[in-house]
Amino acid sequence: MTRILLFGRTGQVGWELNRSLQPLGEVIALSRDKADFSHPESLRGIVRESRADIIVNAVAYTAVDRAERDEALAHLINADALAVLAEEAKRLNALLVHYSTDYVFDGAKREPYVEEDNPNPINAYGRTKLAGEMNIQAIGCRHLILRTSWVYSARGENFVSTILRLARERDELRVVADQFGAPTPARLIADVTSAILSKIRHEVVSRTEQPIGLYHLTSLNHTSWHGFAQAMLDTAQGLLLKATNVAKLTPIPSEQYPRPAPRPKNSRLNCNAIRSRFGIHLPDWESSLRLCLAEMAERDGVC
Ligand code: NDP
Repeated sequence: MTRILLFGRTGQVGWELNRSLQPLGEVIALSRDKADFSHPESLRGIVRESRADIIVNAVAYTAVDRAERDEALAHLINADALAVLAEEAKRLNALLVHYSTDYVFDGAKREPYVEEDNPNPINAYGRTKLAGEMNIQAIGCRHLILRTSWVYSARGENFVSTILRLARERDELRVVADQFGAPTPARLIADVTSAILSKIRHEVVSRTEQPIGLYHLTSLNHTSWHGFAQAMLDTAQGLLLKATNVAKLTPIPSEQYPRPAPRPKNSRLNCNAIRSRFGIHLPDWESSLRLCLAEMAERDGVC
């Protein structure tokens, strides 16, 4: 029986992984109370005791703006803890699955970023996530790092829930229209992770495979935050979600919405490598959004 150790089961992606990984083996899913990443050394015993074949890390310090004044803690969780996991994965010869971000790039490139492009983070969160990637690669355990972007889900607080709530409360919403990326549902990330693990299961369990590497994983095509919000409200109206009373969505440049952490203007990630290497089909961001809103409409009711 394959043993899978999952960290971060309460997060957007972790929640979905705790569902999607179940058919692949015995899943030990831990939350912060059992595995605190701000004490990295405490993770060693947990990994050793698990004797896991696969370690999946969905834990991260994801508060992008707060990381600007709390970079030490973000680094502890996003980078130092990953060094410990990578060392312990190497010791067990287990596969370490980890997630990273479009924010490792500065956004200056005109085309979507490929895996070989040089990272150059422009905020503290991006720096700590890049340090986590580099720790895993330097330690050299067998690993799969999936860089994704603009993650949302049908549960919890995220851009989708925030826009739907504000749309009910306000007559006008001003949304940034000069940052471009691919909104990606947590469920897609979890499902693709499980599909890849299923495809490479034999190599993982027999421990014959070399490090698997780093891939970009997002929905296909791209939009701006404004385009994302507009599609959300249009779709929500179609589904009769309670967000229908919004009067106006106004596109604004980033400069009119200053935040502590600068964001890259171009967050687009080229996903050709993951598609061809693992035969993965990726839906476009609009159909993923429709599925997510349909789920929310089913669950929360319609007005
Ligand atoms: P969430 O913020 O939804 O979840 C983060 C998880 O980390 C939660 O389970 C949280 O636990 C846990 N966590 C935070 N601090 C600690 C700690 N000190 N010890 C133990 N657990 C802790 O993240 P997502 O699911 O959205 O992100 C998944 C991955 O995708 C991450 O690697 C992230 O960097 C990456 N990513 C996310 C993007 C996004 O837009 N969200 C964009 C690009 C990449 P608790 O519930 O207790 O707080």
